[in-house]
Amino acid sequence: MALLNNWNFRLFAPLGVLAVMAGLIVGNNANLRPAQPKTVSQDVLLSAPLTFRSPEIQRFFEQKSSPLAAYTETVGGQDLSASDLFWIASQGENFGLSPRALLTTFYLDQGGLVWPHTGGLLDYLQAMAGKLAALEAEGSSLLVHDLPGQPPADRAKDLAETNTAQYALDHFYSAGAKSLSDGQGSVSAWVAAYQDLFAESASAKAVEPPPSTAPFLRLPFDQPKDSFVRVESFFDHYTPGNFTEPTIYRFDGKYLPSAQFKTCWGGMTCYSGHNGIDYPMPIGTPLVAAASGKVILRYDYEGGLIIDHGNGYRTVYWHMDKIIVNLNQAVNAGQQIGWSGNRGQSTGPHLHFVLRISALSRDIDPYGWWAVQKDPWPYPSNFMWRGDLTVDNRDGACQLFYGGYWTRDAAGYGGESWYTLSGRTFGASTNWGIWGTYIDRPGSYQVYAFWPKSPENTTGATYQVWHAGGPSNITVSQRDDGSRWVLLGTFDFKQGQAAVILTDLTKDNPPKQRVYFDAIRWEPVEKSYYLPEIIRN
Ligand SMILES: [Zn+2]
Repeated sequence: MALLNNWNFRLFAPLGVLAVMAGLIVGNNANLRPAQPKTVSQDVLLSAPLTFRSPEIQRFFEQKSSPLAAYTETVGGQDLSASDLFWIASQGENFGLSPRALLTTFYLDQGGLVWPHTGGLLDYLQAMAGKLAALEAEGSSLLVHDLPGQPPADRAKDLAETNTAQYALDHFYSAGAKSLSDGQGSVSAWVAAYQDLFAESASAKAVEPPPSTAPFLRLPFDQPKDSFVRVESFFDHYTPGNFTEPTIYRFDGKYLPSAQFKTCWGGMTCYSGHNGIDYPMPIGTPLVAAASGKVILRYDYEGGLIIDHGNGYRTVYWHMDKIIVNLNQAVNAGQQIGWSGNRGQSTGPHLHFVLRISALSRDIDPYGWWAVQKDPWPYPSNFMWRGDLTVDNRDGACQLFYGGYWTRDAAGYGGESWYTLSGRTFGASTNWGIWGTYIDRPGSYQVYAFWPKSPENTTGATYQVWHAGGPSNITVSQRDDGSRWVLLGTFDFKQGQAAVILTDLTKDNPPKQRVYFDAIRWEPVEKSYYLPEIIRN
């Protein structure tokens, strides 16, 4: 939120200058329209009052005497009202949008709150919402200029003169046009329509406070006894929600320039624009609520469910085979919500899981952002998995990410560990893992790692330890030590999230030595504050 306000501050000054210049130009040439004043707020496309959902949309249709109040569609056996359809289309698998923004766009497109057809409304709304969301995501990432894959200068310039919502609407209405100004008349009409429909200015801002960053999630499933659900597709920090933009940024800052939807890079299953985490699992795996909350969306046809946790966050579950909780039902953390499946836009059985900021309908990475460079996604991602100061591979606060070869070993902390084989080049490195925790009491901590010692192990496992001073890379020989807690080092920590990251990238020659992913522990260094001076000396 602070960031958004900062943008507004930064972007407002040039706007005044532009408006004056545009006025001068128009004075000389009546064919040129003046530059538009900033008429749309940064977050008008995303935010809506938390209470503006399907029942309120229904009341809205009734107040407006719209025939949509009586419209229904049966989708996948579920009877859905027009208000349900607007709500579902605005809160999808891949993005969230303000239902008000969708209603406004629809109103302009149709010349009223009318749909003179039988059926097809959901498809229409989903296509419209998808396009708006992709443009908004593109706009947000265009603000990043200090990373590889930065945008063409002219598009960044368009954006710098306005904001991402303005950018998205401009581009939505000027599709196929040569210049942005072609769409500006429509954006003005949009702003007027928004005011008409909601008696509210489109330049109003979200007022909800930013959510807490304390971890509150558990895994939305139980790990199977003898295997491990790995992350197959991860959150793309560069334009999540926009699949046509090929750049990928992983949570550890690794940059993948060329991944395309449905293609892989370097042996990883991954695609660009992903806004969440994919956990591959057989159809029929029990799924549970990642935290307590209330069901605010249920869409059977695509197996979609959204739970609002009342703490500023929502979680999104998609492709479920069967849902067993109802709209408005309260659920507890760990309570079963249904079974996993392969419904909707899915290329194989998995759970698509998303962490969404409620007020801004903005998706973030629950594994955080662990890189020295700035996160290309300008909404804060934090490590949101609950855990304690000892994190074993089976805990929710440890996740292994997909790769070609993971092997279970009955040795290790807690009676189990997993290993993969080392690679010497970044391109050959496809397996990695993260252990995270939340440091409640700031201070000095010893950080330990556990792995089973074996002669087949790498001599160069490099643990990246994140602490108050940033990351430290600690290389240890998993061949010469192990089967005990091995000290990686003593570091200072602030209150907040902390993590250790390990990958299969080592300097082993030959490569293909075992790299074990097992357990990490943060142990506070106790200080004897309470001992009398005489004893300490
Ligand atoms: Zn997914």
